[in-house]
Amino acid sequence: MKVLVTGGAGYIGSATVVQLLEAGHRVVVFDNLCQGHRAALHPEAALFEGDLLDRAAVDRVMAEYAPEGILHFASHTLVGESMERPFLYLDDNVRAGLNLLESAAEHGVRRFILSSTANLFGLHDRIPIDESAPVVPGSPYGESKHLLERILHWMDDRFGMRYAALRYFNACGAVSPDLGEDHDPETHLIPLVLQVALGQREHVTIFGDDYDTPDGTCVRDYVHVYDLARAHVLALQALDRGSRTYNLGNGRGFSVREVIEAAREVTGHPIPAVLGPRRPGDPAVLVAASDRIRGELGWEPRYTEMRDILESAWRWHQAHPRGYGDR
Ligand code: UDP
Repeated sequence: MKVLVTGGAGYIGSATVVQLLEAGHRVVVFDNLCQGHRAALHPEAALFEGDLLDRAAVDRVMAEYAPEGILHFASHTLVGESMERPFLYLDDNVRAGLNLLESAAEHGVRRFILSSTANLFGLHDRIPIDESAPVVPGSPYGESKHLLERILHWMDDRFGMRYAALRYFNACGAVSPDLGEDHDPETHLIPLVLQVALGQREHVTIFGDDYDTPDGTCVRDYVHVYDLARAHVLALQALDRGSRTYNLGNGRGFSVREVIEAAREVTGHPIPAVLGPRRPGDPAVLVAASDRIRGELGWEPRYTEMRDILESAWRWHQAHPRGYGDR
């Protein structure tokens, strides 16, 4: 299949491009390289440099490449930032998605995969969280993804566009020592902890230890980027059988303290941790029930142990202590 991957030079997008190519698909990446990295681009993927807010650029890539499917990763993705700058998310994320979808509908694209998020479940009373849990976005970021999920419903209804909404829990790890996580600024727990181990930071701050969890720190479901990428390839192959929505996590929760402790073991570094206040928008526990995708597509996460996740991330951080080095 000829597929268009927006954000294909980003963290999860670039990992997915590798598996799409391995599965025999042809890939064109659409990326403005603001958060993505040229060095993360697969040499066999074509690059169309452009911005999704530029509708003419989106139309050009559709006309030039005539994709049969679209994987839409490009997005602002930070919960905390979205609480500070809600319109960046409610406007840009939604408008970028609408530009892409309208152009896709006009060009007859009938397959679409959306990167969605566990932040849809900002308020929940059942753990693990399956697809029937009520959607109450925890932030403008989650809301922007919720709106796009709703719009996809109408794309299917009006144009027969089959979609998959994949709600990632905490993406983590690296697919190889040369393809990993590099955000600026970095806000995610695992890369921050590993930057302490590299001597780039003095300590990691724990955002609150008075949550209703076993050790008081937040519990998250850390799902490896390899496993996320695999889910995209499986979902793409299944789309012709109908639209679908999946929660994607490894089904196990790890607390902030457990992540730090595992990182001490993997790196051999003491990784000092200091206690700070809670971060707005953080629910106490987010753990996925991924039975639906396991049952329907045979998806099975390969990385379920925190140690294995951290080892893969640590290999990337050691090989690339300054990330892709393009900032
Ligand atoms: N966290 C933390 N200190 C940090 C960064 C994150 O304690 O410097 C916590 C955060 O409150 C959350 C968990 O680690 O409970 C994972 O946060 P991250 O930003 O990696 O992902 P998110 O859950 O926001 O998608």
